[in-house]
Amino acid sequence: MSRDPRLKFIIVGASAAGLASAIALKAAGHNVLVLERESQLGGPDSIPNGGVRLPPNGCKILFDWGLEAELRANAVVGEGFTVYKYEGQAEGRDYIGTHRWDPELLSEARGDFLQMRHKDILRILHDAALREPSANGRMPTGPRVTIRFGAEVVDADFDACSVTLRSGEAFSGDALIGADGAAGFIRRRLLAEEGQSPTDHVPRGLAVYSAIIPKSIAVRDRGISKLYEYPQKNMVSFSMGSNRGAQAFLAGKDEDVVFWVYTPDSSQDGTWTELAEKQISNVLGLCDPLIKRLAEVAEPATCVQIKNHYELESWVSESGKVVALGEAAHPFPIISLHTYSIAIEDGAFIGKIFSHTRDPARIPEFFNAFEENRKPRCLHINKSETQYVDIMALPFGPMQAGRDAAMRANEAAGRNVMDAGEAHLQDMWDDMRMVFGYDPADDADDWWMSWGRLRDAPNAQKRAY
Ligand SMILES: Cc1cc2nc3c(=O)[nH]c(=O)nc-3n(C[C@H](O)[C@H](O)[C@H](O)COP(=O)(O)OP(=O)(O)OC[C@H]3O[C@@H](n4cnc5c(N)ncnc54)[C@H](O)[C@@H]3O)c2cc1C
Repeated sequence: MSRDPRLKFIIVGASAAGLASAIALKAAGHNVLVLERESQLGGPDSIPNGGVRLPPNGCKILFDWGLEAELRANAVVGEGFTVYKYEGQAEGRDYIGTHRWDPELLSEARGDFLQMRHKDILRILHDAALREPSANGRMPTGPRVTIRFGAEVVDADFDACSVTLRSGEAFSGDALIGADGAAGFIRRRLLAEEGQSPTDHVPRGLAVYSAIIPKSIAVRDRGISKLYEYPQKNMVSFSMGSNRGAQAFLAGKDEDVVFWVYTPDSSQDGTWTELAEKQISNVLGLCDPLIKRLAEVAEPATCVQIKNHYELESWVSESGKVVALGEAAHPFPIISLHTYSIAIEDGAFIGKIFSHTRDPARIPEFFNAFEENRKPRCLHINKSETQYVDIMALPFGPMQAGRDAAMRANEAAGRNVMDAGEAHLQDMWDDMRMVFGYDPADDADDWWMSWGRLRDAPNAQKRAY
C-alpha cells in the first residue's frame, strides 16, 4: 500500500497554540492528531472560565480563517483602558488618565481588541479544527484533525516521533509539536536536552488571582454597575499599586466582569485548573473601594504565580522532528495582552510554511525556519510584557512618582496616558505597527520565497502531491 502523502503531525495540548496549529496544518493539507490531558476543552467545569484579551494581530488571523462572526458574537470590543491608583484616595478612586486605541492603527492592523472568555475562544478554535468541508453526501476524504481528551502524554521518543499516554496507548507520526504550555511535558524534555532542570524558572514574587463577577450580580451593585456605563463599558479598568495591581473588564457574550488582581502574596504555586487557597479579599492590601467590592462579590478564583522562565536555547529537538510552540516555547508573564495572539500566530506560521511540503525529510529544516523567524518577535514582545508588569507594579518611590506625573501630564494635555512624548512618538508608533500590524502569513511567505523554495530538495519535487 502506498504511503498517505500527507504528513502526520501529533500535537500535544489542545489550547490556543495547539488548536490554532491544528487548523493551520489541516488547511495546509496534513493530518493532525491532538492529544489533550484534560478530560474536556479548556479545563474542568468546576474551575472558573476566565477572561482573555485578544489584540488585533491575533484576531486578524482568526478573521482570515472565517471566524469573525463567531468571535464577535462572543466578545466585547475593547476601546482602550482607564488608569487608576490601586490604593485610591480618601474620596474613593484616584483616576490618572485614559488610553484609547487609535482607530487608524486598528484599521491598518485589520483587527480589534476582543475581550472574551477562555473557553469560548477555545471552543471556536476546536470547532473550526474539526469542521469538515461539505462533501456532497460522500465521506470527506481531505486532511483530518482528530482531538483526544483525557490523553496525557507521559513519554516520548524524539527520534521515532512517538508518544505514550498515561493509559499506555502509543502513537507515532512524522512530526511532533509540543503545545503543552509552560509546564508541559515536551517543554520539560527540551529543557532536559539542554541540560537544564525541567522546573527552571524564578518566581517573580507576584501572583495573579483571576475571578469572574456575573453580570446579574455586577449590575445590582452601585459601584460595580458603573463598569457598564459607556465609555467605561468598553475600557479595561487598570489599577497600579506598589508591587500590586488589578484589572477589571467586561468579556464574552454575557458581559460578565473579568477581575484580575496582582499580589505579592504568592505563596501558592497554583495552576489554571485548581482553585486558589485564599480568597481574593485576603490578599488585596490597601486598595480602592471598587477593588474591595469586586473581591467581595467575585466567584471562586484561581491563583497563578508570575515566573521568569528559562529561555529555551532551541525550540527544536536534537532529532529535528519535535518543536515547541506557544507557551511551551516562550512562556509569557500570565494574563499578558499577547499570550493568546502569539500562540495563534505560531500556529498560523507553522501551517503556512508546511503548505509547501509533504516531504518528511524537510521537517527539521521547516521547524528550524519556524524558530528562526518567530523567535525574535516572541522574545521582543515577551520583554515588553515583562516591562509592563514591572511598570504597573513599581514600588512607592521616585520612579513611581515620575511614572504617575508623566501619565497625569498626558491626561491634562488631552493625550493618551501611555504617550511617550514628542521625541519618542515615532518609535512608539513604529513599535505598535510592528506588534499589532504583523501578519504571520506574510512572514511565512517571505521565508518561503527567500529561502524555503530555493532549498527545495530534488527528491521533494518527485513526491506525488
Ligand atoms: C485550563 C486553562 C485555563 C486558562 N485560563 C486562562 C484565562 O482565563 N485567562 C488567561 O489569560 N489565560 C488562561 N490560560 C493560559 C492561556 O491559555 C495561555 O497563556 C495562552 O493562551 C497560550 O496557550 P498555549 O496553548 O501555548 O498553552 P496553554 O494554554 O498552557 O495550554 C497547554 C495545553 O496542554 C495541555 N497539556 C499539558 N501537558 C500535557 C500532556 N503531558 N499531555 C497532553 N496535554 C497536555 C494542557 O492541559 C493545556 O490544555 C489558561 C490555561 C489553561 C491550561
